[in-house]
Amino acid sequence: MSRIAYVNGQYVPFASARVHIEDRGYQLADGVYEVIAVWDGRPIDLLPHLRRLGRSLAESRLEWPVGERTLRTVLLLLVERNYVRNGMIYIQISRGIYKRNFLFPPKEVRSTLVVTAHSHSRLASAALFEQGVSVITLNDLRWQRCDIKSISLLPNVLSRQVASERGAFEAWLLGSDGTITEGTSSTAWIVTNSGHVITRPLSPAILGGITRERVLCLAKLLGLIVLERPFTLEDAQHAAEAFLTSTTTFILPVVTLNGRQIKNGIPGAVTRLLRTAYLSSLTSGAAMGW
Ligand code: PMP
Repeated sequence: MSRIAYVNGQYVPFASARVHIEDRGYQLADGVYEVIAVWDGRPIDLLPHLRRLGRSLAESRLEWPVGERTLRTVLLLLVERNYVRNGMIYIQISRGIYKRNFLFPPKEVRSTLVVTAHSHSRLASAALFEQGVSVITLNDLRWQRCDIKSISLLPNVLSRQVASERGAFEAWLLGSDGTITEGTSSTAWIVTNSGHVITRPLSPAILGGITRERVLCLAKLLGLIVLERPFTLEDAQHAAEAFLTSTTTFILPVVTLNGRQIKNGIPGAVTRLLRTAYLSSLTSGAAMGW
Protein backbone atom coordinates (compact mmCIF):
# COMPACT_ATOMS: atom_id res chain seq x y z
CA MET A 1 0.00 0.00 0.00
CA SER A 2 2.02 2.98 -1.22
CA ARG A 3 1.52 6.32 0.45
CA ILE A 4 1.04 9.55 -1.41
CA ALA A 5 1.75 13.14 -0.48
CA TYR A 6 0.73 16.49 -1.92
CA VAL A 7 3.52 18.88 -2.94
CA ASN A 8 2.69 22.18 -4.65
CA GLY A 9 -0.28 21.07 -6.68
CA GLN A 10 0.78 17.50 -7.31
CA TYR A 11 0.02 14.17 -5.73
CA VAL A 12 3.29 12.26 -5.60
CA PRO A 13 4.51 8.98 -4.10
CA PHE A 14 5.45 9.68 -0.48
CA ALA A 15 8.88 8.11 -0.87
CA SER A 16 9.87 10.53 -3.62
CA ALA A 17 8.11 13.68 -2.32
CA ARG A 18 10.65 16.55 -2.32
CA VAL A 19 11.08 20.30 -1.94
CA HIS A 20 14.06 22.23 -3.25
CA ILE A 21 17.13 22.87 -1.03
CA GLU A 22 16.50 26.60 -1.29
CA ASP A 23 13.02 26.32 0.13
CA ARG A 24 12.79 28.94 2.87
CA GLY A 25 11.22 26.42 5.21
CA TYR A 26 14.34 24.29 4.92
CA GLN A 27 16.86 27.12 5.12
CA LEU A 28 15.22 29.63 7.45
CA ALA A 29 12.34 27.78 9.16
CA ASP A 30 10.28 30.50 7.45
CA GLY A 31 6.92 28.80 7.53
CA VAL A 32 3.98 27.55 9.53
CA TYR A 33 2.24 24.22 9.97
CA GLU A 34 -0.85 22.52 11.26
CA VAL A 35 -1.64 19.02 12.53
CA ILE A 36 -5.16 17.62 12.39
CA ALA A 37 -6.22 14.32 13.92
CA VAL A 38 -8.20 11.81 11.88
CA TRP A 39 -10.61 9.71 13.90
CA ASP A 40 -12.67 6.99 12.30
CA GLY A 41 -11.71 8.32 8.88
CA ARG A 42 -12.71 11.94 9.53
CA PRO A 43 -10.68 15.00 10.41
CA ILE A 44 -11.46 16.32 13.88
CA ASP A 45 -12.13 20.03 14.34
CA LEU A 46 -11.20 20.80 10.76
CA LEU A 47 -12.58 24.33 10.80
CA PRO A 48 -10.79 25.50 13.96
CA HIS A 49 -7.54 24.02 12.63
CA LEU A 50 -7.93 25.84 9.30
CA ARG A 51 -8.81 29.03 11.15
CA ARG A 52 -5.65 28.70 13.26
CA LEU A 53 -3.62 28.04 10.11
CA GLY A 54 -5.06 31.24 8.60
CA ARG A 55 -4.04 33.15 11.71
CA SER A 56 -0.50 31.70 11.70
CA LEU A 57 -0.21 32.66 8.02
CA ALA A 58 -1.47 36.20 8.58
CA GLU A 59 0.78 36.78 11.60
CA SER A 60 3.74 35.52 9.57
CA ARG A 61 2.75 37.67 6.55
CA LEU A 62 2.37 34.55 4.44
CA GLU A 63 -0.28 34.02 1.76
CA TRP A 64 -2.65 31.07 1.52
CA PRO A 65 -1.02 28.97 -1.26
CA VAL A 66 -4.42 27.67 -2.40
CA GLY A 67 -7.99 28.55 -1.47
CA GLU A 68 -9.44 26.99 1.67
CA ARG A 69 -11.86 24.89 -0.36
CA THR A 70 -9.01 23.40 -2.42
CA LEU A 71 -7.03 22.68 0.72
CA ARG A 72 -9.98 20.83 2.23
CA THR A 73 -10.28 18.74 -0.92
CA VAL A 74 -6.58 17.88 -0.76
CA LEU A 75 -6.81 16.87 2.92
CA LEU A 76 -9.81 14.63 2.41
CA LEU A 77 -8.33 13.04 -0.67
CA LEU A 78 -5.08 12.26 1.17
CA VAL A 79 -6.97 10.71 4.08
CA GLU A 80 -8.84 8.50 1.63
CA ARG A 81 -5.91 7.63 -0.64
CA ASN A 82 -3.65 6.79 2.31
CA TYR A 83 -6.37 4.67 3.95
CA VAL A 84 -6.22 6.62 7.21
CA ARG A 85 -8.86 5.58 9.78
CA ASN A 86 -7.06 6.85 12.86
CA GLY A 87 -4.10 9.08 12.24
CA MET A 88 -3.12 12.58 11.35
CA ILE A 89 -2.85 15.14 8.59
CA TYR A 90 0.21 17.39 8.42
CA ILE A 91 0.14 20.69 6.51
CA GLN A 92 3.21 22.86 6.02
CA ILE A 93 3.41 26.18 4.22
CA SER A 94 6.70 27.99 3.70
CA ARG A 95 7.59 31.25 1.99
CA GLY A 96 8.62 29.43 -1.16
CA ILE A 97 11.88 28.81 -2.98
CA TYR A 98 14.32 31.63 -3.52
CA LYS A 99 18.03 32.38 -3.04
CA ARG A 100 18.79 32.63 0.66
CA ASN A 101 18.07 36.09 2.02
CA PHE A 102 16.29 37.27 5.16
CA LEU A 103 14.18 39.69 3.10
CA PHE A 104 10.93 38.32 1.67
CA PRO A 105 11.28 36.99 -1.89
CA PRO A 106 9.57 38.88 -4.76
CA LYS A 107 5.76 38.69 -4.91
CA GLU A 108 5.73 36.20 -7.80
CA VAL A 109 7.46 33.53 -5.67
CA ARG A 110 4.71 31.15 -4.61
CA SER A 111 4.64 29.70 -1.11
CA THR A 112 5.34 25.98 -0.80
CA LEU A 113 2.50 23.75 0.31
CA VAL A 114 3.13 20.22 1.52
CA VAL A 115 0.40 17.97 2.89
CA THR A 116 0.74 14.41 4.19
CA ALA A 117 -1.63 12.05 5.94
CA HIS A 118 -0.70 8.92 7.83
CA SER A 119 -2.10 6.32 10.20
CA HIS A 120 -1.06 6.51 13.84
CA SER A 121 -1.83 3.44 15.91
CA ARG A 122 -1.12 5.21 19.22
CA LEU A 123 -3.43 8.15 18.48
CA ALA A 124 -5.23 8.86 21.76
CA SER A 125 -3.88 5.56 23.14
CA ALA A 126 -6.12 4.14 25.89
CA ALA A 127 -3.17 2.15 27.29
CA LEU A 128 -1.11 5.32 27.63
CA PHE A 129 -4.04 7.01 29.33
CA GLU A 130 -4.31 4.23 31.95
CA GLN A 131 -0.58 4.34 32.57
CA GLY A 132 -0.37 8.14 32.75
CA VAL A 133 2.78 10.00 31.78
CA SER A 134 5.77 11.63 33.47
CA VAL A 135 6.64 15.25 32.88
CA ILE A 136 9.72 17.24 33.81
CA THR A 137 10.05 21.01 33.87
CA LEU A 138 12.64 22.94 31.86
CA ASN A 139 13.16 26.63 31.23
CA ASP A 140 11.11 27.95 28.33
CA LEU A 141 13.74 29.01 25.79
CA ARG A 142 11.30 29.91 23.01
CA TRP A 143 10.55 33.21 21.32
CA GLN A 144 7.81 35.70 22.22
CA ARG A 145 5.27 34.62 19.56
CA CYS A 146 4.48 31.06 20.59
CA ASP A 147 0.89 31.72 19.49
CA ILE A 148 2.09 31.31 15.88
CA LYS A 149 2.39 27.65 14.87
CA SER A 150 5.82 28.18 13.36
CA ILE A 151 7.97 25.38 11.94
CA SER A 152 10.88 26.94 13.86
CA LEU A 153 10.86 24.33 16.63
CA LEU A 154 14.47 23.98 17.79
CA PRO A 155 13.77 24.85 21.46
CA ASN A 156 10.86 22.39 21.46
CA VAL A 157 13.05 19.69 19.89
CA LEU A 158 15.89 20.22 22.39
CA SER A 159 13.53 20.25 25.37
CA ARG A 160 11.63 17.17 24.28
CA GLN A 161 14.91 15.32 23.75
CA VAL A 162 16.06 16.17 27.29
CA ALA A 163 12.69 15.01 28.64
CA SER A 164 13.03 11.72 26.79
CA GLU A 165 16.62 11.23 27.97
CA ARG A 166 15.35 11.68 31.53
CA GLY A 167 12.59 9.12 31.00
CA ALA A 168 9.77 11.66 30.70
CA PHE A 169 7.04 11.84 28.06
CA GLU A 170 6.88 15.63 27.92
CA ALA A 171 8.60 18.77 29.26
CA TRP A 172 6.52 21.54 30.77
CA LEU A 173 8.20 24.84 30.12
CA LEU A 174 8.79 27.40 32.85
CA GLY A 175 8.49 31.06 31.98
CA SER A 176 10.79 33.66 33.54
CA ASP A 177 8.06 34.49 36.11
CA GLY A 178 8.06 30.91 37.39
CA THR A 179 4.73 29.94 35.82
CA ILE A 180 4.34 26.98 33.50
CA THR A 181 3.63 28.13 29.96
CA GLU A 182 2.85 24.82 28.18
CA GLY A 183 4.42 21.58 27.01
CA THR A 184 6.76 21.28 24.02
CA SER A 185 3.79 20.05 21.98
CA SER A 186 0.85 20.09 24.36
CA THR A 187 -1.24 22.30 26.63
CA ALA A 188 -0.68 22.03 30.41
CA TRP A 189 -3.55 21.70 32.91
CA ILE A 190 -4.07 21.07 36.61
CA VAL A 191 -7.07 20.28 38.77
CA THR A 192 -6.91 21.86 42.22
CA ASN A 193 -7.89 20.12 45.44
CA SER A 194 -11.18 22.01 45.28
CA GLY A 195 -11.86 20.55 41.81
CA HIS A 196 -11.15 23.66 39.75
CA VAL A 197 -9.79 22.96 36.28
CA ILE A 198 -6.96 25.37 35.49
CA THR A 199 -5.09 26.21 32.32
CA ARG A 200 -3.20 29.27 31.24
CA PRO A 201 -5.14 31.99 29.38
CA LEU A 202 -4.38 32.57 25.71
CA SER A 203 -1.48 34.95 25.06
CA PRO A 204 1.61 35.08 22.82
CA ALA A 205 3.33 32.83 25.43
CA ILE A 206 1.40 29.75 24.29
CA LEU A 207 -0.09 28.12 21.23
CA GLY A 208 -3.88 28.31 21.36
CA GLY A 209 -4.56 24.58 21.39
CA ILE A 210 -7.58 23.35 19.46
CA THR A 211 -7.91 20.48 21.95
CA ARG A 212 -7.72 23.08 24.73
CA GLU A 213 -10.78 24.83 23.29
CA ARG A 214 -12.73 21.59 23.03
CA VAL A 215 -11.78 20.54 26.58
CA LEU A 216 -12.65 23.96 28.03
CA CYS A 217 -16.05 23.75 26.41
CA LEU A 218 -16.67 20.18 27.62
CA ALA A 219 -15.51 20.98 31.17
CA LYS A 220 -18.03 23.83 31.33
CA LEU A 221 -20.79 21.60 29.93
CA LEU A 222 -19.98 19.07 32.66
CA GLY A 223 -20.50 21.80 35.25
CA LEU A 224 -16.85 21.99 36.28
CA ILE A 225 -15.40 25.30 37.39
CA VAL A 226 -12.79 26.33 34.86
CA LEU A 227 -10.24 29.06 35.54
CA GLU A 228 -7.98 30.35 32.81
CA ARG A 229 -5.04 31.56 34.86
CA PRO A 230 -1.30 30.90 34.98
CA PHE A 231 -0.08 28.32 37.51
CA THR A 232 3.34 27.58 39.00
CA LEU A 233 5.37 24.41 39.39
CA GLU A 234 4.41 24.44 43.07
CA ASP A 235 0.71 24.67 42.19
CA ALA A 236 1.18 21.66 39.93
CA GLN A 237 3.10 19.68 42.53
CA HIS A 238 0.30 20.20 45.06
CA ALA A 239 -2.54 19.69 42.59
CA ALA A 240 -5.12 16.93 42.86
CA GLU A 241 -4.57 16.06 39.18
CA ALA A 242 -2.57 17.23 36.23
CA PHE A 243 -3.03 16.45 32.57
CA LEU A 244 -1.97 17.52 29.11
CA THR A 245 -3.93 17.91 25.89
CA SER A 246 -3.01 17.87 22.22
CA THR A 247 -4.36 16.90 18.82
CA THR A 248 -2.60 13.52 18.81
CA THR A 249 -2.92 12.50 22.48
CA PHE A 250 -6.34 14.08 23.18
CA ILE A 251 -6.09 14.04 27.01
CA LEU A 252 -3.33 12.33 29.01
CA PRO A 253 -2.98 12.23 32.79
CA VAL A 254 0.34 13.50 34.16
CA VAL A 255 1.11 11.23 37.10
CA THR A 256 4.64 12.33 38.00
CA LEU A 257 6.21 15.76 37.79
CA ASN A 258 9.99 16.09 38.16
CA GLY A 259 10.05 12.55 39.53
CA ARG A 260 7.44 13.24 42.25
CA GLN A 261 4.00 11.68 42.13
CA ILE A 262 1.01 13.95 41.72
CA LYS A 263 -1.36 12.87 44.50
CA ASN A 264 -1.24 9.05 44.45
CA GLY A 265 0.31 8.80 41.00
CA ILE A 266 -2.71 7.43 39.15
CA PRO A 267 -4.98 9.08 36.54
CA GLY A 268 -7.48 11.33 38.30
CA ALA A 269 -11.28 11.26 38.15
CA VAL A 270 -11.69 14.66 36.48
CA THR A 271 -9.12 13.79 33.82
CA ARG A 272 -10.98 10.53 33.15
CA LEU A 273 -14.31 12.31 32.96
CA LEU A 274 -12.92 14.77 30.44
CA ARG A 275 -11.42 12.05 28.27
CA THR A 276 -14.71 10.16 28.21
CA ALA A 277 -16.57 13.35 27.29
CA TYR A 278 -13.97 14.16 24.64
CA LEU A 279 -14.24 10.74 23.00
CA SER A 280 -18.02 10.80 23.00
CA SER A 281 -18.06 14.31 21.53
CA LEU A 282 -16.10 12.90 18.58
CA THR A 283 -18.50 10.06 17.91
CA SER A 284 -21.53 12.29 18.35
CA GLY A 285 -20.12 14.44 15.55
CA ALA A 286 -19.88 17.51 17.80
CA ALA A 287 -16.21 18.05 17.10
CA MET A 288 -16.07 17.30 13.42
CA GLY A 289 -16.29 20.87 12.23
CA TRP A 290 -17.67 20.11 8.81
N1 PMP B 1 1.34 23.83 22.53
C1 PMP B 1 2.27 23.51 21.63
C2 PMP B 1 3.60 24.18 21.69
C3 PMP B 1 2.00 22.57 20.62
O1 PMP B 1 2.93 22.28 19.69
C4 PMP B 1 0.75 21.93 20.60
C5 PMP B 1 0.46 20.89 19.57
N2 PMP B 1 0.04 21.45 18.37
C6 PMP B 1 -0.20 22.29 21.58
C7 PMP B 1 0.13 23.23 22.53
C8 PMP B 1 -1.57 21.69 21.57
O2 PMP B 1 -2.32 22.19 20.51
P1 PMP B 1 -3.45 21.30 19.81
O3 PMP B 1 -4.41 20.93 20.88
O4 PMP B 1 -4.04 22.20 18.80
O5 PMP B 1 -2.75 20.12 19.23
